[in-house]
Amino acid sequence: MMRKRLFWRIFPPLVIITIVSLAALTWYASTALRQFHLDHVALDLEAQAHLLTPQMSDLLDDGNPARLDSLSKQLGSRAGTRLTIILPSGRVIGDSEEAPETMDDHRDRPEVRAALAGAIGRSVRFSHTLQKTHMYVALPVRSDGKVICVLRTSRPVTSIRETLRTLYDDLLLGSMVVALLAVVAGIWVSRRISRPLEEMKRGAERFARGDLDSRLPVYGTEEMAALAETMNQMAAELNDRIQKAVQQRNELEAVLSSMVEGVLAVDNEQRIISMNEAAARLLGTNRDRAQGQHLLEVIRNADLERFIEKALSSSEPVEGEVTLRSLGERFVQAYGSILTDSQGKEFGALVVLNDITKLRRLEGVRREFVANVSHELRTPVTSIEGFIETLLDGRSHTPEDTKRFLEIISRHADRLGTIIDDLLSLSRIEQEAEAGTVELEETQLESILLGALQICEVIASERQIEIQLICSDRINVRANGALLEEAVANLMDNAIKYSDPGSPVTIEASQSEDEVVIHVRDKGSGIEEEHLSRIFERFYRVDKARSRKLGGTGLGLSIVKHIAQAHGGSAAVESIPGQGSVFSIHLPRL
Ligand code: ADP
Repeated sequence: MMRKRLFWRIFPPLVIITIVSLAALTWYASTALRQFHLDHVALDLEAQAHLLTPQMSDLLDDGNPARLDSLSKQLGSRAGTRLTIILPSGRVIGDSEEAPETMDDHRDRPEVRAALAGAIGRSVRFSHTLQKTHMYVALPVRSDGKVICVLRTSRPVTSIRETLRTLYDDLLLGSMVVALLAVVAGIWVSRRISRPLEEMKRGAERFARGDLDSRLPVYGTEEMAALAETMNQMAAELNDRIQKAVQQRNELEAVLSSMVEGVLAVDNEQRIISMNEAAARLLGTNRDRAQGQHLLEVIRNADLERFIEKALSSSEPVEGEVTLRSLGERFVQAYGSILTDSQGKEFGALVVLNDITKLRRLEGVRREFVANVSHELRTPVTSIEGFIETLLDGRSHTPEDTKRFLEIISRHADRLGTIIDDLLSLSRIEQEAEAGTVELEETQLESILLGALQICEVIASERQIEIQLICSDRINVRANGALLEEAVANLMDNAIKYSDPGSPVTIEASQSEDEVVIHVRDKGSGIEEEHLSRIFERFYRVDKARSRKLGGTGLGLSIVKHIAQAHGGSAAVESIPGQGSVFSIHLPRL
């Protein structure tokens, strides 16, 4: 719909009202003026007639009609009025402007008729004799109570027309001036009204664009000011509510995004309403891109789909386990419940996903560990049992055999002891590292390495292995001396064990900007690439038989790794099969 500007609403009615009222005023004024003028002329004519009546009646009594005519002409020209004397028969016997004999019977003239009837006759009409509109006033002239003639006075009334025409012209001119003034006034008034409205419109547009901090100027008429104030109040209120809503949303967002659990909301059609970062990570998707998409477009996972269907159709909260494969295999514990709006209408489901992969892996590791421990312990225990049974089988054994059997039993018992010692040591270090109770103090690294060297001296000399120590006495570390000594000794023990006799072993400590590294190098058998990633695991051995023969438990490197971690560092290995290995312990620099 075409909308008119305010100006066109105000201006035309203003002009029309002005013109109509001016026209009405003009009409009324001209009618009243004309009436007033006619009344005035009539009274004037009547007064003149009254003045002349006695004279006329005297002359008539004298019976001198010629005298009457000349008197009429004389008085008429003096008074500027036409005088006519008419006998009751209708014959004109005197006229100030015409010769009476040329004039026709005047009995029919309305004013004459009225005067003959004894009243004062009055008439306005066009005079054919004088070719002008005249006002006629006729007065009866009486003698002895009888009307003996009629004295008629008349004057042209065209002058009033002219007067009125000038008035009309003036009024027309005046109207035009007033109309012009009305235009100016219309423009001014509409501007005055529309300017604050325009400003309000602009302000409202600013509000609509979301700039609720801006304010409308409060001025103009009372209504305008009140409207501006109300709109300002509305904007402030709206701003307040929006701020609150935004704050609440941010708080909720902050809570959701800081949650470790993935939170996912879907509607009844399984379209994603929202999800937090953790959920996006678990599902291997982008949060913003996933919003509004169907779950199937985001992740194709039958487990999750089934679970969400169950959550959507169940009135009770549901719980289940889902395996996700978007980021490798991940085990997720899922909890789902129906989402309802303020009217209690169900519109979707909320699913909380808890990544239990680590837990699962730990459980696996623990199971494997228990199995490994049992297996490791089983072998010596079975041997011990076997030899004890042999000794107790009732048969007689030679003292040499008995001694040999007892030596074997003792060796296996030692092995059991070593395994148990290593296990205890490992669990103690793990526990202390977890509880943060490993006591660390600033120590000179060289003294620790010398301590480890001493521990390995015997076995090194047995295998004719020379150990070279390269370490500056200025390197200090924050360490638990006994533990670090144990770790280095383990590495040296391995280096000696897995090297051929006479092969050299080097311990080298170096310091960089942010760490201290202890390298234990050997030129032994080396380790195949495929084992390197698992070598620090408990009971992991490249060659089980060889390890066992060398008295290894498969726990040494695991102990090294845990000790390094308890110091805030790490353990690493590099190796080339057939050429040797380099094991290193990285410690944070002081
Ligand atoms: P073990 O008690 O068997 O030595 P470790 O945990 O100390 O157990 O070592 C695990 C495995 O890593 C060993 O069985 C061995 O196969 C390999 N290994 C460790 N150190 C070396 C080394 N310096 N050279 C070659 N292989 C090594």
